[in-house]
Amino acid sequence: MTDEFTRLKEAISISDNIVFFGGAGVSTESGIPDFRSADGIYNMKYAYPPETILSHSFFMDHPDEFFTFYREKLLYPGAKPNKAHTALAELERRGKLKAVVTQNVDGLHIEAGSVNVLELHGSCKRNYCMKCGRSFTVDTILESNGVPHCPCGGVIKPDVVLFEESLDQRIMDNSVKAIRNAAVLIVGGTSLNVYPAAGLIQYYSGSMLILINKSATSYDRYANIVIHDSIGPTLGAAIIE
Ligand code: ZN
Repeated sequence: MTDEFTRLKEAISISDNIVFFGGAGVSTESGIPDFRSADGIYNMKYAYPPETILSHSFFMDHPDEFFTFYREKLLYPGAKPNKAHTALAELERRGKLKAVVTQNVDGLHIEAGSVNVLELHGSCKRNYCMKCGRSFTVDTILESNGVPHCPCGGVIKPDVVLFEESLDQRIMDNSVKAIRNAAVLIVGGTSLNVYPAAGLIQYYSGSMLILINKSATSYDRYANIVIHDSIGPTLGAAIIE
């Protein structure tokens, strides 16, 4: 057991005002790769980079190609919550964790039982008709071919914030509030390079910033505890085991 891990356990055990901020690394252990890694050499079948395909204008202009990419790279119907998700849900049940702020769109924190989850970029689990507003589950997207349509004829759009779209202001405000009021902020599975991650953690004013990420980040030097390891086993061992 390293000193840093012992200190992580201690920080979690003494606080009842913890907020977790997480990125793609939280879900890679559930078998969901960061879509940004999808533009690797094996993926040359897409004529555009993921940031282009997952943009609002591309969705409007080429919905067919959007959904081909979306189903293949963003939907992982078999993915289950891992130890990071379940440990955080448990911490909230114990009354110690106030919020999970996530950049992920897989809905796994909610599936694991977390209640106060602020999904900055929305969720693949929610979908709605652009014409009448009717809601659809992810199964509707999975079970349809090409562009999914509502019985009313409207196109069904995932409730995911695309590039060029703005974040939900209420979720942003609540995230800022949660981070600002946190005594302990645990940041996991993100290199903090992607908007709005880096900006959000600037609101933290406490004295226990904990970074858990496989590789070093440019924020390591500001943190009180830095652990370069997988987030699931680390949180699982610190909270549940
Ligand atoms: Zn409709």
